[in-house]
Parts: sequence; C-alpha cells; structure tokens
Amino acid sequence: MLLIHCPYCGEKREEEEFTYDNEAGIVRPTDPEDLTDEEWGDYVFGRQNLCGPIYESWVHTAGCRKFLIVKRDNSNNKIDKTMTVQEASADKNYQEFNSTANSNIKKTNK
Ligand SMILES: [Zn+2]
Repeated sequence: MLLIHCPYCGEKREEEEFTYDNEAGIVRPTDPEDLTDEEWGDYVFGRQNLCGPIYESWVHTAGCRKFLIVKRDNSNNKIDKTMTVQEASADKNYQEFNSTANSNIKKTNK
C-alpha cells in the first residue's frame, strides 16, 4: 500500500483515498475536430509507458478532491515527491517530462 502526501491537505494518506488519473502532462488538443482518427487515437491512448521515475496525475477523491502530481518510480513503487498542479508547472524536471509526454500531441496543435 502506498502512502501519498497530499500537498493540499498537508498529510500522508492511504492510497485508497486517491484515484489515479493519468500520466501527467497530457494536454487535450486545442482543436480536436481538426485531428485525424490516428491523431485522436494517439491523444487518447498514446502514452510513454516508461519504467522508472515518472510523473502521474492523481486525485484526492476521498479528501480535498483536488488534482495533484506524484513523482513515482514505477519499478519499485516509491514516491519521490508530490506537488500541487501549480507547483508542478514551475518544476523544471516536470516540464522536461511533459515536453516528451506531449511530443506526439503538440505536433497536432497547429
Ligand atoms: Zn487532499
């Protein structure tokens, strides 16, 4: 079982209080009507599926109900840190991860 620190509530809480959302940084295309079926499929299903330290979006569903960013190593299930979405947007490593995560989608945002 994971203990996840909610940066909004300021406490470590059990994993059962949280819901995994997605790989962090997936941005909805600005003009989805302009996408081909293949591009839309990449947005919906295309993920990096990396092994090692990754950023994930979670929701504190049984708590404050806010989205948070979790940096977790999925090879050993250890959480390095958690951040508010606002803190994550200022985090250099998170931005770098996002630029890779969204590389397929960004090219479809013309
Ligand atoms: Zn919370």
